Amino acid sequence: MKRFAFFCIPAHGHTNPMLPVAAELVRRGNIVRFYSFDEFEDRIVAAGAEFVSCDRFLPPLSEKEASGLKKVSSTELAVQDIRITLAMDGFLDEQLKSFKPDVVYSDSVCFWGKLNAWKHNVPLVVSTSTFAFNQISSSYMKNSPSELADMIGGLPRLNKELKKLEPYGYRIKNALSLIQSDNETDSVVYTSRRFQPHAESFSDHYTFVGPSIFSQAEPRKDNPRPIVYISMGTVINERPDLYAKCFEALKGENIEVILSCGNAIDIESLGAIPDNFKVYPYVDQLEVLSRANAFITHCGMNSVSESLYMAAPMVLYPQTGEQKAVARRTNELGAGILLKDDSAAGIRSAVRDLLDDPKYAQAANECSGDLRSCSGAAGAADFIETAPHESNGFDVIKALNRDTVKFRIAYWVAAAALMVLVGALFGWKYCWLVGVPAGILSFPLGELFAKLRYKALIRRTHSSSAQG
Ligand code: UDP
Repeated sequence: MKRFAFFCIPAHGHTNPMLPVAAELVRRGNIVRFYSFDEFEDRIVAAGAEFVSCDRFLPPLSEKEASGLKKVSSTELAVQDIRITLAMDGFLDEQLKSFKPDVVYSDSVCFWGKLNAWKHNVPLVVSTSTFAFNQISSSYMKNSPSELADMIGGLPRLNKELKKLEPYGYRIKNALSLIQSDNETDSVVYTSRRFQPHAESFSDHYTFVGPSIFSQAEPRKDNPRPIVYISMGTVINERPDLYAKCFEALKGENIEVILSCGNAIDIESLGAIPDNFKVYPYVDQLEVLSRANAFITHCGMNSVSESLYMAAPMVLYPQTGEQKAVARRTNELGAGILLKDDSAAGIRSAVRDLLDDPKYAQAANECSGDLRSCSGAAGAADFIETAPHESNGFDVIKALNRDTVKFRIAYWVAAAALMVLVGALFGWKYCWLVGVPAGILSFPLGELFAKLRYKALIRRTHSSSAQG
């Protein structure tokens, strides 16, 4: 019997996949203590874990901070994470000393879980409820200008907040090291290797276990008329404008529509609901998806995984950089259409294309088979029970960064030598003829080198693993 401390932020999308893992560990006779928030108490207790309420450590928010969180501002989320970590410091010192966990299982953006594992020298396993993002796979994320401005503009504030953690004994290199997936940390990712972009860039500290869900249901799509499910998830779901366009787009069609609009909206305020729509604040999404022929989704990782698991192709309507990465990968695998025109006519045409062309359902079916062949919550439990893990593998990212630094040094040594040569032969005033182009070309050439080198390193790992 082992003891596991689970940590998560107060968010459905992050907590949901940890619950079946907790249930599996408990079923095997272990003790799981889950540090979470009151809204999740019932489900944590139902999973058989001990629930520890952390609501009292949530800091009061100014209006600006609350609105930043609602818009999923990454700076605001990180700043709040740091504040919660500080508020929980003494409490978690006591808890970790008395509970003595064998392993901490922490959500990837739950700073207090990760930082306390490091502080108290407890093996850490990270629960990654999105794709794993490193410097290679994050190329899939296309952040909007406002997201980029938020990240860059927020850096000074974030660094100031991070400094506050140092006196409490937390070791932090920088903000990125707290959020990004690295190749040294044991990590569980709730998707398949096939679905994860650039899975080959992750070391054997990673396990891709596929969706972690309780449902055993099989997809059954034998509906008298097609079922379309609509949800924008549980965070940014106050979208009466979008729901009105969906009413307009799909009313009168020979389609049954189920809309989950979230708890923040009063359903009455949506006006007249077309006859072929059923609107709820929250649904049993897995059950609905098992019957759905199409899903209009915001592309939260859980929603997309669940949809593929239940073989429902999607109209992809991502809102954040992370969701855009999930949408792009789903589209690449043929299981969804990107909604480029979000007018009523655009929505109707995307839904019709999805329902009329069988290739989308077929691709979703293939993804379902792939995800169902993964080890799921049981695989995650195996990995956590046997942590920490040794890695005998080759770290592609480390090798790539080392080689890119060598290339940049060699590039500038060559450029300097050429400048000296030009200066000595034609006069020093001509040095700029080399210096300026060298400066302009340095970045694109560095990027090109990194791209080619990455491909070569991947080829090398493939051929050595084939030989081994
Ligand atoms: N969900 C649900 N019923 C609903 C809406 C959402 O059960 O009516 C669940 C859904 O199954 C998923 C989670 O809430 O597990 C949403 O997570 P996701 O990562 O898709 O999006 P987020 O809410 O984090 O933006």
